[in-house]
Amino acid sequence: MPYAVQSHTLIVVRLFFSFPHGIMNSIPFKKSILESWYPIMAFDAQTLLQEAKALQEELVSIRRDIHAHPELGSHEVRTTEVIRSYLESLGIEIRPCLETGVFGILYGGQPGKTIGLRADIDALPIQEATGLEFASQNDGVMHACGHDLHATALMGAAKILAAHRNELHGNVKFFFQPDEEGSGGAERMVKAGCLQNPKVDAVFGGHSSTGQLAGQYGLKYGKTYAASNPFVIRVHGQGCHGAYPANGIDSIAVACQIVSALQMLVSRRISATDSAVVTVGSFHAGTAGNIIAGEAELKGIIRTLGPQMREKMCRLVKETAEGVASALGASAEVEIRTSYPGVVNEDAFTAFVHRVMISLVGEQGVTLKATPNMGTEDFGYFMDGIPGCYCAFGFGDGGKECRFPAHGPYFRANEDGLAYAAALHAAVAMQYLNENI
Ligand SMILES: [Zn+2]
Ligand SMILES: [Zn+2]
Repeated sequence: MPYAVQSHTLIVVRLFFSFPHGIMNSIPFKKSILESWYPIMAFDAQTLLQEAKALQEELVSIRRDIHAHPELGSHEVRTTEVIRSYLESLGIEIRPCLETGVFGILYGGQPGKTIGLRADIDALPIQEATGLEFASQNDGVMHACGHDLHATALMGAAKILAAHRNELHGNVKFFFQPDEEGSGGAERMVKAGCLQNPKVDAVFGGHSSTGQLAGQYGLKYGKTYAASNPFVIRVHGQGCHGAYPANGIDSIAVACQIVSALQMLVSRRISATDSAVVTVGSFHAGTAGNIIAGEAELKGIIRTLGPQMREKMCRLVKETAEGVASALGASAEVEIRTSYPGVVNEDAFTAFVHRVMISLVGEQGVTLKATPNMGTEDFGYFMDGIPGCYCAFGFGDGGKECRFPAHGPYFRANEDGLAYAAALHAAVAMQYLNENI
């Protein structure tokens, strides 16, 4: 079992070096984690898990209601109302933020730090085909990415935490974020000031994963999701008669060379151990078969892991497009936009979350992921200069009914994962606020 030994050693090293103060550095803790491999918590994790499980039936009914009434990004009016009234019934203060989405704050009984817990709440433009009794009632709209599960789990965590408010040393901010799938509701929430007053010290969230069993969690240290930069390249040549190409500059021929050169960036300009994807997904030019096209337009997305690779790839795409066009007598105008910033889980806080996960489901219930996801996720906006961790909540059933991919019309999830996702949100907040006090 060389891999098991390796990961065990890695975790011990990480935990010791990440938490140099207080309880984590005490002799009894080191002894206990080496002997029993079970972390010391500021609360009884198993009792908290039981509290979450006691909410399971309620969570299922909330989830099915939200699932049956999905709403697209920035149009989550009903969903917002469901969440807002639920939080209000728990005595959680609602603060104005965006038109949709909910920003709530729970003040603990004692002063202390502030942690942010985040869930996204929007659905996708997909016609549901699951045939479930609680399937979407909104034509062409479906919760096919599990954001109904995320919202419900965080509502459950809010209920658990509200019941423990007197024990909390600090505050919990709840970010029910709109429009993750569309144009980055996270960025707008952060710009609206949700991380300030009081300042958020750490932020936590997670995505449902049917690739993992309900009752388990997934975690990745460091680079976790890619950053994205959409681009447009406009190639300016010179149109002319198709029989005499030398009289003009063929923008299609030039643009083809640019597409080929862009493929070389990942294979030859960055290290084999770094990760990036450059996709040209759209190529438009020309009007007729006997005319040399004067203009061509390419659209695509650069996806990278980590800020250095992001800066490098954006620079290389621009230089390459401009250089190839210039070499062939044309010019290229390159426009690169900044989109989702990517997610890089901060080591110390991730080790902390790892420890909380183990306290709930044991070491065997946590899958450490070795490879990042080249998809995007706007949670990174919340990690604006503050430590954060974005994990995976298991919502699978071993491939029986929940074997269809997210963003597809047959997507299904194992609702048994709801209590575990709620418990993890609540446990991360409780441990973070009450550790070392
Ligand atoms: Zn999605
Ligand atoms: Zn999603």
